Amino acid sequence: MPYSMNTYARLPVAFARGEGVWLWDEQGKRYLDAVAGVAVNSLGHAHPKLVQAICDQAGQLIHTSNLYQIPRQEQLAAKLAQLSGMDKAFFCNSGAEANEAAIKLARLHGHNKGIENPTIIVMEKSFHGRTMATLTATGNRKVQAGFEPLVSGFVRVPYNDIASINQIAEHNQNIVAILVEPVQGEGGIQVPLPAYLQELRRICDSRGWLLMLDEVQTGIGRTGTLFAFQQTGISPDVMTLAKGLGGGVPVGACLAKGDAAEVFKPGNHGSTFGGNPLACAAALATLEAVEQDKLSERAADTGAFIRDAMNAALAGTPGFVQVRGIGLMIGVELDRPCGELVKLALEKGLIVNVTADSVVRLLPPLIMTRDEARQVVELLAPLIKDFLAQK
Ligand SMILES: *Cc1c(COP(=O)(O)O)cnc(C)c1O
Repeated sequence: MPYSMNTYARLPVAFARGEGVWLWDEQGKRYLDAVAGVAVNSLGHAHPKLVQAICDQAGQLIHTSNLYQIPRQEQLAAKLAQLSGMDKAFFCNSGAEANEAAIKLARLHGHNKGIENPTIIVMEKSFHGRTMATLTATGNRKVQAGFEPLVSGFVRVPYNDIASINQIAEHNQNIVAILVEPVQGEGGIQVPLPAYLQELRRICDSRGWLLMLDEVQTGIGRTGTLFAFQQTGISPDVMTLAKGLGGGVPVGACLAKGDAAEVFKPGNHGSTFGGNPLACAAALATLEAVEQDKLSERAADTGAFIRDAMNAALAGTPGFVQVRGIGLMIGVELDRPCGELVKLALEKGLIVNVTADSVVRLLPPLIMTRDEARQVVELLAPLIKDFLAQK
Protein backbone atom coordinates (compact mmCIF):
# COMPACT_ATOMS: atom_id res chain seq x y z
CA MET A 1 0.00 0.00 0.00
CA PRO A 2 2.47 2.63 -1.22
CA TYR A 3 0.13 5.56 -0.63
CA SER A 4 -0.85 4.70 2.95
CA MET A 5 1.30 5.69 5.92
CA ASN A 6 3.00 2.72 7.43
CA THR A 7 1.04 2.65 10.70
CA TYR A 8 -0.12 -0.99 10.52
CA ALA A 9 1.67 -4.26 9.75
CA ARG A 10 -1.33 -5.44 7.71
CA LEU A 11 -2.12 -9.07 6.99
CA PRO A 12 -2.14 -10.07 3.31
CA VAL A 13 -5.92 -10.29 2.97
CA ALA A 14 -8.67 -7.90 1.88
CA PHE A 15 -12.28 -8.71 2.65
CA ALA A 16 -14.88 -8.05 0.02
CA ARG A 17 -18.11 -8.77 1.88
CA GLY A 18 -19.54 -10.20 5.07
CA GLU A 19 -22.67 -11.74 6.50
CA GLY A 20 -23.19 -12.55 10.16
CA VAL A 21 -19.95 -13.94 11.62
CA TRP A 22 -18.59 -14.75 8.15
CA LEU A 23 -16.30 -12.76 5.84
CA TRP A 24 -15.28 -13.47 2.23
CA ASP A 25 -12.04 -12.25 0.71
CA GLU A 26 -11.57 -11.00 -2.84
CA GLN A 27 -10.84 -14.55 -4.05
CA GLY A 28 -14.08 -15.85 -2.54
CA LYS A 29 -12.46 -17.69 0.40
CA ARG A 30 -14.65 -17.74 3.52
CA TYR A 31 -13.46 -16.85 7.04
CA LEU A 32 -15.02 -17.24 10.48
CA ASP A 33 -14.63 -13.86 12.19
CA ALA A 34 -13.68 -14.13 15.88
CA VAL A 35 -12.33 -10.57 16.10
CA ALA A 36 -15.26 -8.45 14.84
CA GLY A 37 -13.03 -5.59 13.69
CA VAL A 38 -11.56 -5.47 17.23
CA ALA A 39 -14.81 -5.62 19.22
CA VAL A 40 -16.61 -3.26 16.82
CA ASN A 41 -18.97 -5.37 14.69
CA SER A 42 -21.16 -6.38 17.63
CA LEU A 43 -24.02 -7.36 15.28
CA GLY A 44 -21.68 -9.14 12.87
CA HIS A 45 -21.57 -8.09 9.22
CA ALA A 46 -24.44 -6.74 7.13
CA HIS A 47 -27.02 -7.03 9.93
CA PRO A 48 -30.35 -6.27 8.16
CA LYS A 49 -31.69 -3.93 10.87
CA LEU A 50 -28.47 -1.93 11.10
CA VAL A 51 -28.18 -1.70 7.31
CA GLN A 52 -31.79 -0.54 7.08
CA ALA A 53 -31.36 2.10 9.80
CA ILE A 54 -28.21 3.47 8.13
CA CYS A 55 -29.83 3.56 4.68
CA ASP A 56 -33.00 5.22 5.97
CA GLN A 57 -31.05 7.85 7.88
CA ALA A 58 -28.65 8.52 5.00
CA GLY A 59 -31.65 9.14 2.77
CA GLN A 60 -32.94 11.78 5.18
CA LEU A 61 -29.91 13.52 6.72
CA ILE A 62 -26.32 12.42 7.32
CA HIS A 63 -24.94 15.47 9.03
CA THR A 64 -26.08 18.88 10.12
CA SER A 65 -23.85 20.22 12.93
CA ASN A 66 -23.90 20.61 16.68
CA LEU A 67 -24.75 24.26 16.00
CA TYR A 68 -28.35 22.99 15.75
CA GLN A 69 -30.71 20.66 17.59
CA ILE A 70 -30.18 17.02 16.62
CA PRO A 71 -33.20 14.93 17.67
CA ARG A 72 -31.48 11.60 16.85
CA GLN A 73 -28.59 12.58 19.14
CA GLU A 74 -30.94 13.47 21.99
CA GLN A 75 -32.78 10.19 21.41
CA LEU A 76 -29.49 8.25 21.68
CA ALA A 77 -28.42 10.20 24.78
CA ALA A 78 -31.76 9.41 26.44
CA LYS A 79 -31.49 5.74 25.48
CA LEU A 80 -27.96 5.45 26.88
CA ALA A 81 -29.02 7.25 30.07
CA GLN A 82 -31.95 4.89 30.51
CA LEU A 83 -29.78 1.81 29.93
CA SER A 84 -26.78 2.87 32.03
CA GLY A 85 -28.19 5.06 34.80
CA MET A 86 -25.88 7.88 33.70
CA ASP A 87 -27.36 11.37 33.27
CA LYS A 88 -25.82 13.00 30.19
CA ALA A 89 -23.79 12.19 27.11
CA PHE A 90 -21.21 13.91 24.91
CA PHE A 91 -20.78 12.31 21.48
CA CYS A 92 -17.59 11.97 19.47
CA ASN A 93 -16.19 9.54 16.90
CA SER A 94 -13.76 7.15 18.61
CA GLY A 95 -12.59 5.67 21.89
CA ALA A 96 -9.62 8.00 22.15
CA GLU A 97 -11.87 11.01 21.72
CA ALA A 98 -14.29 9.70 24.34
CA ASN A 99 -11.40 9.33 26.79
CA GLU A 100 -10.01 12.72 25.79
CA ALA A 101 -13.41 14.18 26.76
CA ALA A 102 -13.31 12.33 30.10
CA ILE A 103 -9.80 13.61 30.82
CA LYS A 104 -10.78 17.20 30.00
CA LEU A 105 -13.92 16.81 32.12
CA ALA A 106 -11.87 15.58 35.11
CA ARG A 107 -9.38 18.44 34.77
CA LEU A 108 -12.09 21.09 34.52
CA HIS A 109 -13.88 19.53 37.48
CA GLY A 110 -10.58 19.79 39.41
CA HIS A 111 -10.03 23.42 38.46
CA ASN A 112 -13.60 24.22 39.50
CA LYS A 113 -12.70 22.84 42.93
CA GLY A 114 -9.56 25.01 43.09
CA ILE A 115 -7.06 22.26 42.23
CA GLU A 116 -4.52 23.90 39.92
CA ASN A 117 -2.67 20.77 38.83
CA PRO A 118 -5.42 18.17 38.54
CA THR A 119 -3.96 14.68 38.33
CA ILE A 120 -5.57 11.44 37.15
CA ILE A 121 -4.63 7.97 38.39
CA VAL A 122 -4.15 5.48 35.51
CA MET A 123 -3.06 1.83 35.39
CA GLU A 124 -0.13 -0.22 34.21
CA LYS A 125 -0.91 -2.24 31.03
CA SER A 126 -3.91 -0.01 30.30
CA PHE A 127 -4.95 1.16 26.84
CA HIS A 128 -6.90 4.36 26.30
CA GLY A 129 -6.04 5.48 22.76
CA ARG A 130 -3.46 7.19 20.56
CA THR A 131 -4.02 10.92 21.02
CA MET A 132 -1.41 12.71 23.13
CA ALA A 133 -3.41 12.67 26.37
CA THR A 134 -4.73 9.13 25.88
CA LEU A 135 -1.36 7.66 24.90
CA THR A 136 0.04 9.27 28.03
CA ALA A 137 -2.75 7.61 30.05
CA THR A 138 -1.95 4.29 28.31
CA GLY A 139 0.34 1.97 30.31
CA ASN A 140 2.44 0.70 27.45
CA ARG A 141 5.84 2.18 26.59
CA LYS A 142 5.58 0.98 22.97
CA VAL A 143 2.60 3.31 22.49
CA GLN A 144 4.45 6.28 24.02
CA ALA A 145 8.04 5.88 22.80
CA GLY A 146 9.12 8.61 20.40
CA PHE A 147 6.22 10.90 21.20
CA GLU A 148 7.67 12.61 24.25
CA PRO A 149 7.14 15.08 25.79
CA LEU A 150 4.10 13.33 27.21
CA VAL A 151 1.21 15.18 28.81
CA SER A 152 1.57 15.93 32.52
CA GLY A 153 -1.05 15.24 35.15
CA PHE A 154 -1.11 11.44 35.29
CA VAL A 155 0.20 9.02 37.92
CA ARG A 156 0.38 5.28 37.28
CA VAL A 157 -0.28 2.34 39.58
CA PRO A 158 -0.46 -1.44 39.03
CA TYR A 159 -3.87 -2.76 37.89
CA ASN A 160 -5.94 -4.66 40.43
CA ASP A 161 -3.91 -3.14 43.31
CA ILE A 162 -5.78 -1.05 45.87
CA ALA A 163 -2.87 -0.54 48.28
CA SER A 164 -0.86 1.57 45.82
CA ILE A 165 -3.85 3.88 45.28
CA ASN A 166 -4.26 4.36 49.02
CA GLN A 167 -0.56 5.25 49.21
CA ILE A 168 -0.90 7.96 46.54
CA ALA A 169 -4.02 9.31 48.24
CA GLU A 170 -2.00 9.91 51.41
CA HIS A 171 0.47 12.38 49.90
CA ASN A 172 -0.98 13.68 46.61
CA GLN A 173 -3.59 16.40 47.06
CA ASN A 174 -3.99 16.94 43.30
CA ILE A 175 -5.81 13.71 42.42
CA VAL A 176 -9.19 14.35 40.79
CA ALA A 177 -10.08 11.03 39.16
CA ILE A 178 -9.25 7.39 38.50
CA LEU A 179 -9.41 6.27 34.85
CA VAL A 180 -9.62 2.49 34.52
CA GLU A 181 -10.85 -0.31 32.24
CA PRO A 182 -13.25 -2.71 34.04
CA VAL A 183 -11.40 -5.49 32.17
CA GLN A 184 -8.14 -4.68 30.40
CA GLY A 185 -8.41 -5.54 26.70
CA GLU A 186 -5.20 -4.63 24.88
CA GLY A 187 -3.30 -5.44 28.09
CA GLY A 188 -4.08 -9.14 27.54
CA ILE A 189 -7.67 -9.65 28.81
CA GLN A 190 -6.91 -8.95 32.47
CA VAL A 191 -9.96 -9.49 34.67
CA PRO A 192 -9.58 -7.85 38.11
CA LEU A 193 -10.87 -9.30 41.38
CA PRO A 194 -14.64 -8.83 41.74
CA ALA A 195 -14.16 -6.40 44.64
CA TYR A 196 -11.70 -4.19 42.73
CA LEU A 197 -14.20 -1.77 41.17
CA GLN A 198 -16.17 -1.67 44.43
CA GLU A 199 -13.00 -0.67 46.30
CA LEU A 200 -12.22 2.00 43.68
CA ARG A 201 -15.77 3.33 44.08
CA ARG A 202 -15.34 3.49 47.87
CA ILE A 203 -12.00 5.35 47.60
CA CYS A 204 -13.40 7.81 45.03
CA ASP A 205 -16.42 8.49 47.26
CA SER A 206 -14.33 9.08 50.36
CA ARG A 207 -11.83 11.34 48.53
CA GLY A 208 -14.22 13.21 46.24
CA TRP A 209 -12.56 11.79 43.10
CA LEU A 210 -14.37 10.85 39.90
CA LEU A 211 -14.47 7.15 39.01
CA MET A 212 -14.08 7.09 35.21
CA LEU A 213 -14.59 3.72 33.53
CA ASP A 214 -13.18 3.17 30.05
CA GLU A 215 -15.82 0.80 28.64
CA VAL A 216 -14.72 1.41 25.05
CA GLN A 217 -14.00 -2.33 24.61
CA THR A 218 -16.11 -3.86 27.42
CA GLY A 219 -19.29 -1.86 26.69
CA ILE A 220 -22.42 -2.75 24.66
CA GLY A 221 -22.93 -6.31 25.77
CA ARG A 222 -19.49 -7.74 25.26
CA THR A 223 -18.87 -8.90 28.83
CA GLY A 224 -22.32 -10.45 29.32
CA THR A 225 -24.11 -7.33 30.58
CA LEU A 226 -24.71 -4.18 28.55
CA PHE A 227 -21.92 -2.48 30.53
CA ALA A 228 -19.26 -4.35 32.49
CA PHE A 229 -19.83 -2.24 35.62
CA GLN A 230 -23.34 -3.67 35.89
CA GLN A 231 -21.80 -6.90 37.19
CA THR A 232 -20.18 -5.12 40.15
CA GLY A 233 -23.06 -3.39 41.94
CA ILE A 234 -21.37 0.01 41.59
CA SER A 235 -21.70 2.71 38.99
CA PRO A 236 -19.16 5.20 37.66
CA ASP A 237 -19.24 9.01 37.55
CA VAL A 238 -17.95 8.98 33.99
CA MET A 239 -18.03 6.20 31.40
CA THR A 240 -16.61 6.14 27.89
CA LEU A 241 -17.92 4.06 24.99
CA ALA A 242 -17.01 3.57 21.35
CA LYS A 243 -16.03 0.30 19.63
CA GLY A 244 -19.30 -1.73 19.69
CA LEU A 245 -21.63 1.25 20.04
CA GLY A 246 -22.34 1.88 16.35
CA GLY A 247 -22.00 -1.70 15.09
CA GLY A 248 -19.18 -0.50 12.81
CA VAL A 249 -20.16 3.12 12.20
CA PRO A 250 -17.70 5.39 14.06
CA VAL A 251 -19.33 6.78 17.18
CA GLY A 252 -17.96 7.40 20.66
CA ALA A 253 -19.57 8.71 23.81
CA CYS A 254 -18.53 10.12 27.16
CA LEU A 255 -21.36 9.67 29.67
CA ALA A 256 -21.45 11.35 33.07
CA LYS A 257 -23.60 11.38 36.17
CA GLY A 258 -24.37 13.87 38.92
CA ASP A 259 -22.01 16.85 39.26
CA ALA A 260 -19.75 15.41 36.56
CA ALA A 261 -22.60 15.72 34.04
CA GLU A 262 -22.75 19.48 34.62
CA VAL A 263 -19.03 20.30 34.26
CA PHE A 264 -18.87 21.24 30.56
CA LYS A 265 -20.36 24.57 29.45
CA PRO A 266 -20.68 25.87 25.87
CA GLY A 267 -17.21 26.42 24.46
CA ASN A 268 -15.43 23.91 26.73
CA HIS A 269 -15.55 20.99 24.33
CA GLY A 270 -16.90 19.98 20.95
CA SER A 271 -16.68 17.86 17.83
CA THR A 272 -17.67 18.67 14.26
CA PHE A 273 -18.87 15.17 13.40
CA GLY A 274 -19.74 13.99 16.92
CA GLY A 275 -23.30 12.71 17.35
CA ASN A 276 -24.40 13.32 13.80
CA PRO A 277 -27.72 11.80 12.71
CA LEU A 278 -26.11 8.93 10.77
CA ALA A 279 -23.89 7.78 13.64
CA CYS A 280 -26.72 8.12 16.15
CA ALA A 281 -29.15 6.15 13.98
CA ALA A 282 -26.56 3.37 13.74
CA ALA A 283 -26.02 3.36 17.51
CA LEU A 284 -29.76 3.35 18.20
CA ALA A 285 -30.27 0.40 15.84
CA THR A 286 -27.34 -1.45 17.42
CA LEU A 287 -28.65 -0.92 20.96
CA GLU A 288 -32.13 -1.98 19.88
CA ALA A 289 -30.84 -5.23 18.37
CA VAL A 290 -28.64 -5.95 21.43
CA GLU A 291 -31.70 -5.49 23.67
CA GLN A 292 -34.29 -7.28 21.53
CA ASP A 293 -32.13 -10.29 20.73
CA LYS A 294 -30.71 -10.44 24.29
CA LEU A 295 -27.18 -10.33 22.91
CA SER A 296 -25.56 -9.52 26.28
CA GLU A 297 -26.95 -12.74 27.71
CA ARG A 298 -25.88 -14.59 24.60
CA ALA A 299 -22.36 -13.16 24.94
CA ALA A 300 -22.17 -14.47 28.52
CA ASP A 301 -23.36 -17.89 27.43
CA THR A 302 -21.28 -18.24 24.25
CA GLY A 303 -18.21 -16.89 26.05
CA ALA A 304 -18.50 -19.45 28.86
CA PHE A 305 -18.88 -22.19 26.26
CA ILE A 306 -15.75 -21.09 24.36
CA ARG A 307 -13.67 -20.77 27.54
CA ASP A 308 -14.74 -24.21 28.80
CA ALA A 309 -14.18 -25.85 25.42
CA MET A 310 -10.76 -24.23 24.93
CA ASN A 311 -9.77 -25.28 28.44
CA ALA A 312 -10.90 -28.84 27.83
CA ALA A 313 -9.03 -28.97 24.51
CA LEU A 314 -5.79 -27.46 25.79
CA ALA A 315 -5.55 -28.72 29.39
CA GLY A 316 -2.20 -30.37 30.01
CA THR A 317 -0.65 -29.08 26.78
CA PRO A 318 2.92 -27.93 27.50
CA GLY A 319 3.15 -24.18 26.82
CA PHE A 320 -0.54 -23.48 27.46
CA VAL A 321 -0.88 -21.13 30.45
CA GLN A 322 -4.59 -20.36 30.84
CA VAL A 323 -7.86 -19.27 29.28
CA ARG A 324 -9.36 -16.17 30.85
CA GLY A 325 -11.99 -13.59 30.12
CA ILE A 326 -15.57 -12.61 30.60
CA GLY A 327 -18.38 -12.89 28.07
CA LEU A 328 -17.03 -12.60 24.53
CA MET A 329 -13.76 -11.02 25.63
CA ILE A 330 -11.49 -14.05 25.75
CA GLY A 331 -7.73 -14.50 26.07
CA VAL A 332 -5.78 -17.73 25.66
CA GLU A 333 -2.38 -17.14 27.24
CA LEU A 334 0.61 -19.15 26.05
CA ASP A 335 4.10 -19.21 27.53
CA ARG A 336 5.71 -17.65 24.44
CA PRO A 337 5.13 -14.95 21.81
CA CYS A 338 2.51 -16.27 19.40
CA GLY A 339 1.86 -13.53 16.83
CA GLU A 340 2.43 -16.17 14.12
CA LEU A 341 -0.84 -17.84 15.08
CA VAL A 342 -2.81 -15.01 13.50
CA LYS A 343 -1.48 -15.93 10.04
CA LEU A 344 -1.77 -19.68 10.62
CA ALA A 345 -5.42 -19.23 11.63
CA LEU A 346 -6.08 -17.00 8.62
CA GLU A 347 -4.84 -19.76 6.31
CA LYS A 348 -7.40 -22.09 7.95
CA GLY A 349 -10.18 -19.54 7.48
CA LEU A 350 -10.32 -18.26 11.06
CA ILE A 351 -9.76 -14.68 12.17
CA VAL A 352 -8.17 -14.25 15.61
CA ASN A 353 -5.97 -11.60 17.17
CA VAL A 354 -2.89 -11.70 19.42
CA THR A 355 -2.31 -9.07 22.08
CA ALA A 356 0.32 -8.54 24.79
CA ASP A 357 2.66 -10.78 22.67
CA SER A 358 1.50 -14.11 24.05
CA VAL A 359 -2.29 -13.89 24.40
CA VAL A 360 -4.57 -15.15 21.60
CA ARG A 361 -7.56 -12.84 21.81
CA LEU A 362 -11.11 -13.63 20.71
CA LEU A 363 -13.69 -10.83 20.40
CA PRO A 364 -16.40 -12.41 18.23
CA PRO A 365 -19.58 -10.66 17.12
CA LEU A 366 -22.20 -10.93 19.89
CA ILE A 367 -24.57 -12.68 17.45
CA MET A 368 -22.30 -15.75 17.23
CA THR A 369 -24.26 -18.98 17.68
CA ARG A 370 -23.21 -21.96 19.79
CA ASP A 371 -22.48 -23.93 16.63
CA GLU A 372 -20.28 -21.17 15.21
CA ALA A 373 -18.50 -20.93 18.58
CA ARG A 374 -17.84 -24.68 18.42
CA GLN A 375 -16.27 -24.15 14.99
CA VAL A 376 -13.97 -21.47 16.43
CA VAL A 377 -12.73 -23.92 19.07
CA GLU A 378 -12.42 -26.80 16.57
CA LEU A 379 -10.26 -24.65 14.28
CA LEU A 380 -8.23 -22.85 16.94
CA ALA A 381 -7.38 -25.52 19.53
CA PRO A 382 -5.48 -27.82 17.11
CA LEU A 383 -3.61 -24.81 15.68
CA ILE A 384 -2.45 -23.80 19.16
CA LYS A 385 -1.45 -27.40 19.96
CA ASP A 386 0.57 -27.72 16.73
CA PHE A 387 2.18 -24.34 17.32
CA LEU A 388 3.18 -25.26 20.88
CA ALA A 389 4.44 -28.71 19.81
CA GLN A 390 6.73 -27.25 17.11
CA LYS A 391 8.90 -24.95 19.19
C1 LIG B 1 -9.71 0.56 21.45
C2 LIG B 1 -9.71 1.22 22.77
C3 LIG B 1 -9.54 2.60 22.90
C4 LIG B 1 -9.26 3.50 21.71
O1 LIG B 1 -10.32 3.54 20.82
P1 LIG B 1 -10.10 4.22 19.35
O2 LIG B 1 -11.48 4.20 18.77
O3 LIG B 1 -9.12 3.37 18.62
O4 LIG B 1 -9.59 5.58 19.56
C5 LIG B 1 -9.62 3.15 24.15
N1 LIG B 1 -9.83 2.39 25.24
C6 LIG B 1 -9.99 1.06 25.17
C7 LIG B 1 -10.24 0.27 26.41
C8 LIG B 1 -9.92 0.42 23.94
O5 LIG B 1 -10.04 -0.91 23.86
